[in-house]
Amino acid sequence: MTDSASPPVTLKARKAPRLTYKQEIQTIKNLPRVQRLIVIMKIAGVFLVAIGLEGIVTGQYLFTLVFVPLGVFVSMLPIRIKTGVCIACRSPLEQSQAICPKCGAPQM
Ligand SMILES: [Zn+2]
Repeated sequence: MTDSASPPVTLKARKAPRLTYKQEIQTIKNLPRVQRLIVIMKIAGVFLVAIGLEGIVTGQYLFTLVFVPLGVFVSMLPIRIKTGVCIACRSPLEQSQAICPKCGAPQM
């Protein structure tokens, strides 16, 4: 019988006194889904900005005027998504709420 016990996952603990162990696990479980979307948006934003900057190089400033703001806007979108729902329990949040009123998870 082989010992296939998974090695302890080394996660750097954030200083979040309000977060219980259970909530922390829940937050980490939900994070990849949220972060994947954020990463996709960021890449898309960077790509659009790159197209815009290419416009400067090639002298097509219309490209720059269209794509740079568009890229910045796309990059900013995830911030709005993040403030919309709780990352731990997915309950709707007010935009100003930094800590979820339902589960107490800080919104990163
Ligand atoms: Zn919550």
